[in-house]
Amino acid sequence: MARITLDGLRHTYSEPGEAAAAYALKGLDLAFEDGGAYALLGPSGCGKSTLLNIISGLLTPSEGRVLFGEEDVTRATTSDRNIAQVFQFPVVYDTMSVRQNIAFPLKNRGVRGPELDSRVEAILELIGLEHVADRRARGLSADQKQKVSLGRGLVRSDVNAILFDEPLTVIDPHLKWRLRTQLKSLHRETARTMIYVTHDQTEALTFADQVVVMFDGEVVQVGAPQDLFERPEHTFVGHFIGSPGMNLLPAQISADRARVGSVEVQLPGRATPQPQQKTELGVRPEHVKLGTSGYDARLVRVDDVGRYRIAVLKFGGETLKALVPEGVEIPAAPKVSFEPNGLHLFADSRRMQWEGRA
Ligand code: ADP
Ligand code: MG
Repeated sequence: MARITLDGLRHTYSEPGEAAAAYALKGLDLAFEDGGAYALLGPSGCGKSTLLNIISGLLTPSEGRVLFGEEDVTRATTSDRNIAQVFQFPVVYDTMSVRQNIAFPLKNRGVRGPELDSRVEAILELIGLEHVADRRARGLSADQKQKVSLGRGLVRSDVNAILFDEPLTVIDPHLKWRLRTQLKSLHRETARTMIYVTHDQTEALTFADQVVVMFDGEVVQVGAPQDLFERPEHTFVGHFIGSPGMNLLPAQISADRARVGSVEVQLPGRATPQPQQKTELGVRPEHVKLGTSGYDARLVRVDDVGRYRIAVLKFGGETLKALVPEGVEIPAAPKVSFEPNGLHLFADSRRMQWEGRA
């Protein structure tokens, strides 16, 4: 078991040396601590599978190194790296039984006898397939096959890390939650490094202690779920995390004022962008308050989404969403105020530092 370090990693599927736009990974330095639960979160096409396959050894990066501990494994095979990987779609041997499929990775490593049997039984129970243990994999449903795949990934206890690439995509929605919870408790029990790829923020935030947010071939932030919510380092993190995501309002910043269209918002500190930068004021819908005093706004509509409502407003010509908890009244002609700690500034999509504020 070892820490996994990615050093100056870049990858292109075409000839190296092409324009940056052709790179699936554009330059990445990252470390996964031994025993951590990580998620790689980002939209389809941002480079998650590419990164995972470079860690497991299915792909050799165009540039940069992969280290396990101090050892350079950039050119080592998957089996030399001693890594288990679960893919988005099932990888099973159709002619073998469920039990044989799960036993296979252990037998390959020379595990026999009672140890083999007890590991296989434990995994069958975990994935809930005891009742079909002796059936051939060929006849199983897609989600049963994926559970077998998951079982094969989890059965060995001596791996350096287990990598999951959107493993629950084909699983029935109401089983997803259960399996994810089980993966989480398995992580707690075994303290093995797990890296879980998903485009679903709920999956990432519930599984991982540290979430690596990727966007367009780059890592834009690594943090605990709470950091991503409270201190997004990039506008992408602001609007991708949260439901609905952060309001991002084009704004002109001057010292402690942000002008959004016709409205001038008082800031809790000062900030000085560079002259040509594109600047935005960010505020989560949770931190927008509606009342009888504050800035002018116009209520456009109210969406009821169950546990709370979302008030959609026009604010200085921009759309602004406010999350209104159950039981709180929405004035017909509301004024808007912001929680001072909920205001964020971005310049060219990156978080700006405040001056004169902690
Ligand atoms: P994700 O897993 O986040 O959806 P991928 O790592 O699969 O993203 O893809 C990243 C980028 O690399 C995408 O633009 C994708 O089209 C491209 N890509 C992925 N696999 C290949 C491949 N085998 N050949 C060429 N381009 C690829
Ligand atoms: Mg993928």
